[in-house]
Amino acid sequence: MAEFDVDLFVIGGGSGGVRAARIAAGYGARVTIAEEYRMGGTCVIRGCVPKKLFVIGSHFRHELEDAAGYGWTVPSASFDWPTLIANKDKEIARLEAAYTANVEKSGAQIVKSRAVIEDKHTVRLLENDRKITARYILIATGGAPNHGASIPGIEHVISSNEAFHLKKLPKRIVIQGGGYIALEFAGIFAGFGSDVTVIYRGDNILRGFDEDVRTHVRAEMEKQGITILTGCTVSKVDRHGDEFTTHLSNGSSIASEQVMFAIGRHPAVANLGLENAGVAINPNNGGIAVDHFSRSSVDSIYAIGDVTHRFNLTPVAIREGHAFADTVFGKREVKVDHANIPTAVFSQPEVGTVGLTETEARAQFSHVDIYKTSFRPIKATMSGRDTRVLMKLVVDGSTDRVLGCHIVGDAAAEITQAVAIAVKMKATKADFDATIALHPTAAEELVTMRTPTARHVRQAAE
Ligand code: FAD
Ligand code: NDP
Repeated sequence: MAEFDVDLFVIGGGSGGVRAARIAAGYGARVTIAEEYRMGGTCVIRGCVPKKLFVIGSHFRHELEDAAGYGWTVPSASFDWPTLIANKDKEIARLEAAYTANVEKSGAQIVKSRAVIEDKHTVRLLENDRKITARYILIATGGAPNHGASIPGIEHVISSNEAFHLKKLPKRIVIQGGGYIALEFAGIFAGFGSDVTVIYRGDNILRGFDEDVRTHVRAEMEKQGITILTGCTVSKVDRHGDEFTTHLSNGSSIASEQVMFAIGRHPAVANLGLENAGVAINPNNGGIAVDHFSRSSVDSIYAIGDVTHRFNLTPVAIREGHAFADTVFGKREVKVDHANIPTAVFSQPEVGTVGLTETEARAQFSHVDIYKTSFRPIKATMSGRDTRVLMKLVVDGSTDRVLGCHIVGDAAAEITQAVAIAVKMKATKADFDATIALHPTAAEELVTMRTPTARHVRQAAE
């Protein structure tokens, strides 16, 4: 009789857990995966995918407005929120079924239950109180929205989870946060016609992104009528029937039909039985502490994805899950290289970024050249839209290597995915220059910027 019921027990059927389960099963491991909610996890069910569908849907407003300059007469367009929600739910259900089918096809077994750790080789399924022993346990439980301090009226505040299922489009919405989710939903709601106010505690949105990107995105969002209030927080929310009054730390207040917080997500480590096995938490970020192979402080237990709070992005969770399965079941050790991960904020306009910001590069390199351009995209010349694109390259002036690329504008995410290959390959500015432009595109600017717009050379004494 086998020593353990299964070779691998995966807790969490999201991006990372599903990839790990499928690859491990492909190596011949006996795999069980537990999911307490819906197969596919955050990205598929209430993250990247429905968010992108909403972004696409809301962006039609811009297309309809822009068409007039090109000769189109567009009859007064109307938008129906329930249709959007119903079609989105249908697509998400299709994807959930596809995820389920793919896991089953791989030979892994799915159990629909919450799982908790009993000891270093045992999990318990809460659904039927059954215990399963496993040679390895993989924790891939993801994360959940933060709501911050318990201010009065916090129970009236929604997160992105609820935003995907609102019964009606709010006429006015207040969104607290200045990161990915807040800005993506600000663009979504504004595109569909809501009056949007973003509340951010710092001096400018998108902390950690390149300074020029932060300034540019904010200006573009404000041009579209989104109000961005900085240097304040939400201190209280009052409800009056279907309306809310949001009180701010600066003494002002705003009336709206919804109040949403997008102030970060925490790793899902609570009530997981980590203490039963002695799995350590990383004191710096609250996620499960892991080494380069995603191994926790307990040798039979690994953790990947958002629950480790390293880089909370779907492709990272997938790569970590794959690397785990290769390392533990595929007889080849694979470390995930977390350098130069491209990322996009699907705000409107969107942001694409890979590599170092100007500030980071200047802290690490003694000679940094900046190539920056801001221009009116060709489409806007006839649509009349008041918008500009930003493109910026950060270059190591000593070696000519391109350290970072930052774009704000239509298709920024698509362009950045391709540029990320060059940055990952350590391409030089000369390599970019040697590439013939593809005309007429916005991205051709990346290979035609000849002269640095700024040159920062640190003196030896600095
Ligand atoms: P998850 O996908 O969160 O999966 C964890 C799963 O574990 C969940 O299904 C959960 O129900 C289950 N679970 C938890 N505890 C238990 C338990 N004890 N027992 C059984 N099951 C359990 N990333 C991008 O790269 N691009 C984007 O555009 C993007 N957009 C996003 C938009 C939003 C609104 C949000 C919230 C996130 C977005 N992300 C995006 C981030 C991305 O969704 C996550 O990084 C990714 O889903 C992490 O995958 P994971 O496998 O670590 O966890
Ligand atoms: P982010 O970390 O992107 O942004 C959180 C925002 O909330 C920041 O502006 C932060 O301010 C602010 N904040 C944090 N705590 C408080 C507080 N107590 N009171 C007021 N404001 C606060 O988190 P999100 O929730 O937007 O998204 C979570 C993660 O999900 C992202 O970091 C990303 O990894 C992933 N994601 C990725 C997407 C993509 O790839 N397109 C899309 C959506 C999510 P400050 O900067 O001052 O700390």
